[in-house]
Amino acid sequence: MALPLAPSPLPHAAVRLDAPLQIDRRRADAGLDGLEIADVPRAERLAAMREGRLGSLHSWELVTAVDGPGTRMTVFLAGCPLRCLYCHNPDTLAMRDGHPVLAEEVLARIARYAPIFRATSGGITLSGGEVLMQPGFAARLLRGAKELGVHTALDTSGYLGAHATDAMLDDTDLVLLDVKSGDPDTYRHVTGRDLEPTLEFGERIARRASGPELWIRFVLVPGLTDDPHNVEIVADYAASLERIRPGAVARVEVLPFHQMGRAKWEAIGRPYELGDTQPPAPELTEQVREVFRARGLTTC
Ligand code: SF4
Repeated sequence: MALPLAPSPLPHAAVRLDAPLQIDRRRADAGLDGLEIADVPRAERLAAMREGRLGSLHSWELVTAVDGPGTRMTVFLAGCPLRCLYCHNPDTLAMRDGHPVLAEEVLARIARYAPIFRATSGGITLSGGEVLMQPGFAARLLRGAKELGVHTALDTSGYLGAHATDAMLDDTDLVLLDVKSGDPDTYRHVTGRDLEPTLEFGERIARRASGPELWIRFVLVPGLTDDPHNVEIVADYAASLERIRPGAVARVEVLPFHQMGRAKWEAIGRPYELGDTQPPAPELTEQVREVFRARGLTTC
């Protein structure tokens, strides 16, 4: 979703090469340092994961004006059911590769930063991987954050949107919904999964009078997602959500593909199919943004 400072993890999307000020990712703190790793027997650990007391975490970082408004703590959960060809965090895809961390430990960290979040109108963003692979854990973090008065965001592909309960959505102020393609065949080619659950999740959110707010994210990959018809379908979809609930789609982010995740694919020994793909020209990125703007959507 945003331009990473390697090796910080970057979920779902790729990147922004034409980084304007609002996407300046200033990394103040990162990693798992200081978060207590739960060291409990396997059976107990599995039970705690089912209850959402324990999660599998890849990492976390503090960022400014990325992954939502203000200064944010972005928490990257491990595990994802998609296999996006352009994934910049292939090291987050397996839940077993994450670090077991207690929800209360993450919440203690959130509490520590709460004054910063309040002062900057920031908050937390749960990302991944796919956060909805661990709905119980996510629900606890969202509830705990709301009890601390902290703004909350979910960064998701929406593929597992059915895992998000209404209570979870009540505790979510913003959903960053990654619509990787409008054409179902392209979506399957890009992700290995079906598009429909993502569309349904976005519509479900738009139908909720109480929110959350939506930011639609679309990664522009030359030769993969940049077909004009594909872009039109994504734009039509975003506009349709805005018609369901005016104001629901607060912004659309068109994210230019880049190659910064390539080294991670090589590091984990997975074949990377986009080795020869170039980032889109700035002119193309602007053209695509105009397709969204033409439908009255705030786009960056
Ligand atoms: S949805 Fe999963 S596979 Fe796709 S970019 Fe995000 S983390 Fe990677």
